[in-house]
Amino acid sequence: MKYINKKLTIENIGFQKIANKFETPCYCYSYSKLEENINNFKKNFKSFSPLICFAVKSNTNVNLIREIKKFGLGADVVSIGELMMALKAGINPNKIVFSGVGKTSSEISFAIKKKILLINAESISEIKEINRIAKLKRKKVQVGIRLNPNTDAKTLSQISTGKKENKFGVNRKTFYEIIKYCKNSKNINLKCLSVHIGSQILNHRPYEKMLNVVNEIINKTNHEFEFIDLGGGMGIPYSEKNKKLNYKKYNKAILKFLKKRKVKIIFEPGRSIIGDTATLLTKVIYIKDSERKKFIILDAAMNDLMRPALYGAEHRTLPVNKSNKISKKTYEFVGPICESTDKFITLKKFQKLKEKDLVAICDVGAYGMSLSSNYNLRPKAVELLIKGSKINVIRKRQKHKNLI
Ligand SMILES: *Cc1c(COP(=O)(O)O)cnc(C)c1O
Repeated sequence: MKYINKKLTIENIGFQKIANKFETPCYCYSYSKLEENINNFKKNFKSFSPLICFAVKSNTNVNLIREIKKFGLGADVVSIGELMMALKAGINPNKIVFSGVGKTSSEISFAIKKKILLINAESISEIKEINRIAKLKRKKVQVGIRLNPNTDAKTLSQISTGKKENKFGVNRKTFYEIIKYCKNSKNINLKCLSVHIGSQILNHRPYEKMLNVVNEIINKTNHEFEFIDLGGGMGIPYSEKNKKLNYKKYNKAILKFLKKRKVKIIFEPGRSIIGDTATLLTKVIYIKDSERKKFIILDAAMNDLMRPALYGAEHRTLPVNKSNKISKKTYEFVGPICESTDKFITLKKFQKLKEKDLVAICDVGAYGMSLSSNYNLRPKAVELLIKGSKINVIRKRQKHKNLI
């Protein structure tokens, strides 16, 4: 994205033109950014060529998953719906891992039927359920166990998953018990240890700590794991203030971990692949003056982009047509939904806006559309993939008749 003659563009196409043709609110994805992210991710870890399983929950658009698949990525899914979507996008079952604390019997059954690479179990009860179903089907099922390494990811508490008070994974004691249980089972093939300590991680140190814990635990068991699944969580800089994750140091820590053992590393990145590829294009409906600030009432709302209301996340917000006039009052960017949490960001010294102006909310590719809803009976926005000079509709705007 860049300004050309004071007009904001994506792959050199003006957002104004996009809004004229497709209306707002509208999700715009950049293909070249997606390509760049995937290539960079691969490059960062090329010395041990991991299996990269895209975390489908960050973006469930089938056309995007198809594009991601073309680079050889697999999928990390957390529900039967996501598993179906990954298969529909053409991802090879042999590159699909299934995570989640509450997989139901029918989800487990379906995953076994599809012969996916790994079911990553998160409790002793789940392991027993997998065993029961596998036995019924007379199958041997490849599983992983998700370890809770009790490592602080130093991220927002709402998206931290690797501490002992979080519901995810099992503690060491249970981990050892499950290994023993699997050794005695004819229907379970324990192939993987998995961890995922949280999301939007910008510091490599939590990863180093996590690797130390994993290393220690593997040393205590004499089980040969074929895979170590390190999860995802690599953060992206949402604001200029954010530091970037130091991939070199993370890579170095993994190489050190791999020195003593022959295992295949799996990653499950979502945000770092798709997060900064998209922009939510929206239009100012009204501007309402209050004593201290002005409310910029947009046609996008928390149903389109939930992260600010859900986690207090802040997304860079830019004017589509740049000018030099600065507003004296603080702007609060809000949506039309009947909730006080339906607000995106509060900014001082934004350029002066008027009604019908276009605004771009940046870095919404991950946990944007996938967290959207129909709250207030608002139809979901259209999704566009911009590739060179082409604009492809990759998901149509919902119509009211789809909802009513
Ligand atoms: C959400 C999730 C991911 C992806 O996290 P990102 O922060 O988007 O990279 C990976 N693995 C598991 C198990 C998850 O729940």
